[in-house]
Amino acid sequence: MEMNKCKNKKCQRDLPEGYKHRYCEHCRNKYAKRTKDGIKAVGGVVGSFALLILTKGKFDSRDK
Ligand SMILES: [Zn+2]
Repeated sequence: MEMNKCKNKKCQRDLPEGYKHRYCEHCRNKYAKRTKDGIKAVGGVVGSFALLILTKGKFDSRDK
């Protein structure tokens, strides 16, 4: 019988029998958190960029 192991090379934890995922719960939680943080970071960048454009637009109209 083939033993399932976490696909994360740094982890290599044994996965329970019948486990549907390729990564263990530990790695999946870590990955989910990283993804969420990544979205938050991207959202922040997009947000400040939109604010910059908005502010610049206001400045431009004030100059006229
Ligand atoms: Zn793992």
